[in-house]
Amino acid sequence: MFPASFDYRVAESIDEAISLYQSADGEARYLAGGHSLIPAMKLRLARPSRLIDIRPIEQLRYIRVGDDGAVHIGSLTTHAEIAASDVIAQHAPLLAQAAKVIGDVQVRNMGTIGGSLAHNDPGADYPAAVLALEATITVQGPNGTRRIAAADFLKDMYETALEPGEIIVDVAVPSYSGWKSTYVKFFHPASRYAVVGVAILANADGNQVQDIRIAYNGVASCAFRDTAAENVLKGTTVTDTAIAEAANAALNGVDALSDHFASAEFRKHIGRVYLKRALQGLFAG
Ligand SMILES: Cc1cc2nc3c(=O)[nH]c(=O)nc-3n(C[C@H](O)[C@H](O)[C@H](O)COP(=O)(O)OP(=O)(O)OC[C@H]3O[C@@H](n4cnc5c(N)ncnc54)[C@H](O)[C@@H]3O)c2cc1C
Repeated sequence: MFPASFDYRVAESIDEAISLYQSADGEARYLAGGHSLIPAMKLRLARPSRLIDIRPIEQLRYIRVGDDGAVHIGSLTTHAEIAASDVIAQHAPLLAQAAKVIGDVQVRNMGTIGGSLAHNDPGADYPAAVLALEATITVQGPNGTRRIAAADFLKDMYETALEPGEIIVDVAVPSYSGWKSTYVKFFHPASRYAVVGVAILANADGNQVQDIRIAYNGVASCAFRDTAAENVLKGTTVTDTAIAEAANAALNGVDALSDHFASAEFRKHIGRVYLKRALQGLFAG
């Protein structure tokens, strides 16, 4: 299908993009990698009257360690750049572990972290990672700049804290150098989106866990931290018994998604199995 007709504009700076948004007659949308927005427009699930192409904004492309010690990622950074970054591999490997399994090569070369977080697809891979990493998302819009914790930014299926006209500028992740992490997913065989994805980040000396974060995507309408499973393992020595207890504690009371591909019961079952396997892999030896 073809998209409905729209006015296409190109922005060279953040201010220009916001001003193009404000002057639009009808609904405007920012265009980054186009790998969620264009398919939605072709299916006429989205019918913006103006597309503002933000790809030329070079100031949104970077990965660097800031004066605050956190890793800062510009919103136009692609999944492939995150997967290949030495800085991310050292300070926040969990983000690279998620980026590496997004879609296929073309999707990873075009899609951006800002676009993925703004879209907040329940089957997207970054949301669980940014929750576990306790990332902060900086947005800029007609009313200035705001810094939003990932847990407050990701609201619900395709819903975020973004106000009209706001652009994601930066994703900041504290340094977790030395922490263990893994991201595993049961992916849809056609789209490769996560039917279930589990991100784990642990501060551990061998199998002695000081702190652990466990977050899921794909299971419910929005990614979430599973604090019940975390609490089983926090401050303990990880054993097979503790792993089984954490898996049993996970996903209880969660309102899981159900569709023609995976029922709610299947998603929860796979979620527990994948958590168990991920923990076994992380704490093996
Ligand atoms: C075949 C296929 C398979 C895929 N598989 C996966 C997968 O396995 N895992 C996964 O996580 N994703 C997957 N994706 C989605 C992919 O990661 C997209 O790139 C991502 O969801 C959107 O990023 P984008 O840069 O393409 O954004 P766009 O499509 O350009 O934009 C998406 C939305 O975000 C808004 N937006 C974009 N950038 C900003 C910004 N900086 N500030 C504010 N709003 C913004 C747009 O206005 C739009 O509403 C897949 C996509 C395809 C086509």
